[in-house]
Amino acid sequence: MNDPFFTKNKCDHCGQPFGAIRMASWFLDNSPICQKCDNKESEIKRRLRNMGIHDAMEGCGYIPNPDEIQVHALNAPANKKV
Ligand SMILES: [Zn+2]
Repeated sequence: MNDPFFTKNKCDHCGQPFGAIRMASWFLDNSPICQKCDNKESEIKRRLRNMGIHDAMEGCGYIPNPDEIQVHALNAPANKKV
């Protein structure tokens, strides 16, 4: 089993070791995250939806900051890391 999703033992976002739970990141493909970071992603997703952005950012490769997002910038290269 070499799937990085299962072989990683630390959260991709905050670096905390996993407890019993690992969640799939919505924004990063094949990236396991901890429950706490999943809650953060859920909050970001909720705010994106409020801005009219629904599934457009799934797997976009970085964690968007709703405070900085402009809807027209969604087509820009996804090279930003938070
Ligand atoms: Zn985490």
